[in-house]
Amino acid sequence: MNIVIMGAQGTGKGTVAGLLKGDLNIPHISTGEIFRKNIKEETELGKIATKYADEGKLVPDEVTNEMVKNRLEEKDCNNGFILDGYPRNLIQAEKLDEILADKGKKVDMVIYLTTPTNEIVERVMARRECPKCKRVYNMVLNKPKTGEICDDCGVELIKRADDTEEKLKTRLDIFFKETKPVIDFYNKKGIVREEEISLSINRLAIDVAKDIIKDVK
Ligand code: AMP
Repeated sequence: MNIVIMGAQGTGKGTVAGLLKGDLNIPHISTGEIFRKNIKEETELGKIATKYADEGKLVPDEVTNEMVKNRLEEKDCNNGFILDGYPRNLIQAEKLDEILADKGKKVDMVIYLTTPTNEIVERVMARRECPKCKRVYNMVLNKPKTGEICDDCGVELIKRADDTEEKLKTRLDIFFKETKPVIDFYNKKGIVREEEISLSINRLAIDVAKDIIKDVK
């Protein structure tokens, strides 16, 4: 199954995708994570991406599209994938259709996660990540057992460089201006499953993931 998971920053895309990945046995491909890895390793791709990612802006489409095309050609995507963070605008959405059509494939399901903006800001500010295994914690909702140390690796957690209030604002603006139209694009195809994740309705990422797994299996 070829899944695209969409939603503004901090809605829980990574958590839901991580839970689905294990159960559906397909890879979770986070374009943000691929960029962060390349930036850290100072690769050619990382050198291009860093000036955009540091500002919370989108990396140019040609660069991102090529990276995704190459990733989807890897063997582990043969039985499906969960794309997280791509497509981010209509040009990318059309490109994804083209990449998949060339292989006789298509996007089967789009999971669109929504969360009230006040909760998004709180969640992103409390977000921490393990620099080693990439596990994501939340210092309010999903704390590690000790201080700010990864339960699995024992290393100190970090805050993402773009998780500041100022950069979050830029990223949310881009989401509502450029990425929201992609949801309409998929809505017209009738493949969007919209799910709210919010403390106010007591529905967390794990609840959403469980329901989706039950329905698609
Ligand atoms: P994310 O972890 O999805 O918030 O992505 C972090 C950063 O990586 C973004 O702010 C962009 O700079 C870059 N990025 C991730 N996905 C894309 C994409 N589909 N198109 C352009 N830039 C992206």
